[in-house]
Formats: sequence, structure tokens, C-alpha cells
Amino acid sequence: MHVRAPLPEGDSPAALVATGLAKIGLVLRHEAWRERAETGLTPTQGQILALLRARGDGVALGELARELGVSAPTASESVATLAAKGLVEKTRGRTLAVSLTARGRREADRAARWPDFLLEAVDALTPEEQAVFLRGLTTMIRTLQEQGRIPVARMCATCRFYRPNVHADPERPHHCGFVDAPFGDRQLRLDCADWLPTDEEETR
Ligand code: SF4
Repeated sequence: MHVRAPLPEGDSPAALVATGLAKIGLVLRHEAWRERAETGLTPTQGQILALLRARGDGVALGELARELGVSAPTASESVATLAAKGLVEKTRGRTLAVSLTARGRREADRAARWPDFLLEAVDALTPEEQAVFLRGLTTMIRTLQEQGRIPVARMCATCRFYRPNVHADPERPHHCGFVDAPFGDRQLRLDCADWLPTDEEETR
């Protein structure tokens, strides 16, 4: 009879999660390059379109650079390229603001659609697993922000309206002070138009 050898001591769960994330990062990088070949946009240019789409109105050039975590000259160069392609326009007021043109909005709508393969992979998780995953991602993003590795995102974890775990209902334990309503892990936002930074975030 064949006796199976015991499994070797594995990596820690943290290392396994990091390996899994690295694999997903690899797929996303491939996808970004494929998109670039198709649309001719660099990842930074694509992110600028996505950010302008999320904000609606004109966004100051300095804010674009800060939110994307790139230097002002890089943001300025990317905006100039997008303007030359007819995808954004610049308006000069007190500061220089950037907005989407109609063509830019169509391109941004297209780019904002998550690739089917990624949605299918997330859909394979149960709603409970998705909620736990989203909560874990939120905590990781916050840690990376605190380390200064990524710019502050407009998410619940860094919002002055967020009151975590203040309600007894396990389905909706958190409270959003902006809409004055309870909500659950599944509704945690990663880019919310109503977000305002906590005092701590503002100082940072
Ligand atoms: S305003 Fe938006 S980011 Fe802030 S707690 Fe409410 S849902 Fe979350």
C-alpha cells in the first residue's frame, strides 16, 4: 500500500496570501499591457480617465497627481497626451482643472468595466467570502496608505463619517454619518464621492 508522506511545513498564512495577491497582480499587469496595446493609453492615462469619471466635475491637476501618487510633471505630461487625443480638456480658473470630453467619457466608461475574468473569479466566492475579502482589502489598503506607499483613497476606513461596529446587527454593524444609516461589510466603499478625511488623515 502506498503511504503518503506528510505534507511539508508550509509558509505562513500571511506569506500564502501575499503569494496569491502577487499572482493576481501579475494577471492585472498583463491585462494592463493588453489594454495599452488596444487603446494606446498608458496605465497612468487610463487611471486619469477613471478618476475624472468618478469625480464628475473638473479636477485640479495637483489633485490628480496627488491621488494617483505620481509627480506633477508626470500628471501634466499624461494630461497633455490625453488632451492631444481629444479625451480631456483643460479649463483655466483659479487653478488648472481637467475634465473629460464626450469621447473621453466613452473611453472612461469602457475602461471602467472590469474584465469578465476578474468578475467571474470574484463571483465564485460566496457573498460572505466577498464581504470578508472586502474587509481584508480595506484594512490592507489602509496599512499601505499609513506606510505612505499608496495615496489616500476615499474609502470608509479613512472617512470622518465612518463609525465601525457601533450597531448590534451583525449584518449591518457600521454607521455612515453622512447618510446617517447603518451598513455592513459588503457595502464598505473604496471610492466614495461623499468621503471626507478624518483629522488624522488630514494631518498626514
Ligand atoms: S461617506 Fe462614504 S466613505 Fe464615508 S462612511 Fe459614508 S459611505 Fe463610507
